[in-house]
Amino acid sequence: MAENKRDYYEVLGVSKSATADEIKKAYRKAALKYHPDKNPGDKEAEEKFKEAAEAYDVLSSPEKRQKYDQFGHSMGQQGFGGGYGGYGGFGGGFSMEDIFAQFGDIFGGRFGGGGFGGATGRGSSRGRKPVRKGSDLRINVKLSLADIASGVTKTLKIPTNDACTFCNGTGAKDGTAFTTCPTCHGQGSIVQMQQTMFGAMQSESACPQCHGEGKIISQQCTHCSGTGVQRKENTVSFSIPAGVSNGMVLTVKGKGNAPAHGGVNGDLLVVINEIKHPELIRDGNDVIYNLMLDIPSAALGASVEVPTITGRARLNIPAGAQPGKVLRLRGKGLPDANGGTRGDELINIMVYVPENLTDEQKRIFESLKDSANIKPDESTTRRLFSKLKHIFE
Ligand SMILES: [Zn+2]
Ligand SMILES: [Zn+2]
Repeated sequence: MAENKRDYYEVLGVSKSATADEIKKAYRKAALKYHPDKNPGDKEAEEKFKEAAEAYDVLSSPEKRQKYDQFGHSMGQQGFGGGYGGYGGFGGGFSMEDIFAQFGDIFGGRFGGGGFGGATGRGSSRGRKPVRKGSDLRINVKLSLADIASGVTKTLKIPTNDACTFCNGTGAKDGTAFTTCPTCHGQGSIVQMQQTMFGAMQSESACPQCHGEGKIISQQCTHCSGTGVQRKENTVSFSIPAGVSNGMVLTVKGKGNAPAHGGVNGDLLVVINEIKHPELIRDGNDVIYNLMLDIPSAALGASVEVPTITGRARLNIPAGAQPGKVLRLRGKGLPDANGGTRGDELINIMVYVPENLTDEQKRIFESLKDSANIKPDESTTRRLFSKLKHIFE
C-alpha cells in the first residue's frame, strides 16, 4: 500500500529543496482548496485534504523530512512513529479531528483553528450526528421478601412521553412538512468570528434556529403541537430476578421518555424498595429471626412455629437451649442474585426471664434455687461462654 502513495513533495507541489516557509505556504494553499467547508460532502476533496495534511506533517518536521528523504514511504513508516506509524493508505491514520488539532493554526483567516466543530456534521458525515435520547424515567417498585425470594414479573402502567404516532415523533405535519433552515441554508452550522489571542478566528457552531438539523418545520403536527411527543400511559412488563436488594436499580432499555422532535427513548430505571418483613431481618442472603423462649421451654425443649419468608415452619428446640444459641434452617434464606449459594434462616434464641412472679411461682423458683444442676459449675460456664465467644469478640 505504501508504494501507491504519492510523493509528499508532489502532493504539496513543491521541489525537494523547498524551504520550510515554502512548504508551509504550499500546505496552506492545499488545505484551503480542499477544506471541507468549501467542499461539503466531497469525499475526494476530503481525501486530498488528508493527504496534504499527512505530507505536511512529515515535511514540516526536519527529523521526519530527513527520514523521508532517505527512506521514502516504506521505510519511513517505521521511523515516523507516534500517530503516524500505522498509516496505510489515505484515510487510515489522520482523522479530520487530528488535522484541525495539529494544523488548525495554519489555516488562519477564513478557516479558523476552532472551525472544525461544524465540518464533521456536514455532507457524508452527517450520520455521525449524535442521536437524540429522551430522558430516563425512574420508578420505585416495592417488593416483599417473598417477591425477592422468587423473583417477579411486573406489568405496570407508566405515564410516558412517547413519540407522536401522527408525525413519527418529528413534530412536522405527517412527518414530512419541513423546509430548509433559512439561517444556515441547510448546513446545520453557522460560522462566527471570534477575537482570540491569536487574532480573529472563525468558529463553527450548531445553528441556533434548527439545532444542527438544517431544516425547520414548515407546518406543525396538530396532534402534538409540533413537539413530536404525546403523553401516554405505557404498559411495561419487566421481570425482576430473585435475590435483589433494597436500593438496587434495574434498567429497562428504551422504556423511558421520547425526546422532542425524534430520537430514541430514554430508559426506565426500576429502583427496588424492599418492604420490611414484620418479623424477619434480612442479612445479605440470610434472614434472622429472634426467637424468645420461656424458661420452661428452654429447659424442657419444645416444638415451636417460626415465620419463614414463604410462610411458617415448625422447629424443634432441644432441651437445655441456651440464650444466644443460633439454630439454622438451611436454604430458607434468599437466593443469591449473582448465582451464588442460597442463604439460610438463622434462629437466634433468647430466653425470657419473667419479670412479675406470682407467689406460687416464687415458691417454685425458691425450691429450685438450691437443687442440683440448676447452677452451672465452672467447666459448664466455660464451655457455654466459649460457644458464645463470637458475641464478645
Ligand atoms: Zn405529532
Ligand atoms: Zn439552521
